[in-house]
Amino acid sequence: MVLTSQQITNFNVFRVRLATSLRKMYDREANPHIRLMLGHVLRNVVLLPIHFREGHYLSANESGVTFGENVKRSFIEESNGMRVPHLESAIRVPSEHLFKGNNLNPAGVMTLLHEYSHIVLPTTAYRYTKRIGLPYHMADELFADLLAVRIANRTSIPKRHIQSHIIRRQANYGGYPFARAVIEGRRTVERELPVPRRQTAPREERPRNFIEIPVKRAEGTPFLPHLRRR
Ligand SMILES: [Zn+2]
Repeated sequence: MVLTSQQITNFNVFRVRLATSLRKMYDREANPHIRLMLGHVLRNVVLLPIHFREGHYLSANESGVTFGENVKRSFIEESNGMRVPHLESAIRVPSEHLFKGNNLNPAGVMTLLHEYSHIVLPTTAYRYTKRIGLPYHMADELFADLLAVRIANRTSIPKRHIQSHIIRRQANYGGYPFARAVIEGRRTVERELPVPRRQTAPREERPRNFIEIPVKRAEGTPFLPHLRRR
């Protein structure tokens, strides 16, 4: 899969801007749970390699079209007689979905934001999912969607593209009115994830099954120079 040099440039510019606005969102976020999640998304944006595939989508069957994937691979590495477990993550997106010509395609960017937002969730996220009546295993998809929409609203993606993404994602939630709740802004995550009342420093919540993910550079992946705090 070969991208044009203009596509690579445009993508890197987009990724730096995205990381910058995520950093701002992270710094300004008062809710410690959301802050933790935004930190994980920022980490994904900076570190995760993107594997581009040819075509407009990754796969299609009777249950729908898959536009993006956040894939994980675990392996054991031997060094100095020690066996070290590793977990590697990468994002797969089809190039003709992410780009329209040399420019980024808003629908593709929504897919990418969703994949970046697949993170290690704090336990509060699972409690929230349960409280609104969704099965436990839907937490990952729900929070990827909620975070992606939240981040997209701070970017220059036209509102209609954000809305059509939300409406398309409704298919995953069965009877739960996900699209209506997100578009009307009801049951916002802020209201559901309680903020500690006292002014004491918030206790760092331990993410579930947290594993440090060493990321290797994948072939053909445009990589960012290290982001520095301004
Ligand atoms: Zn997903």
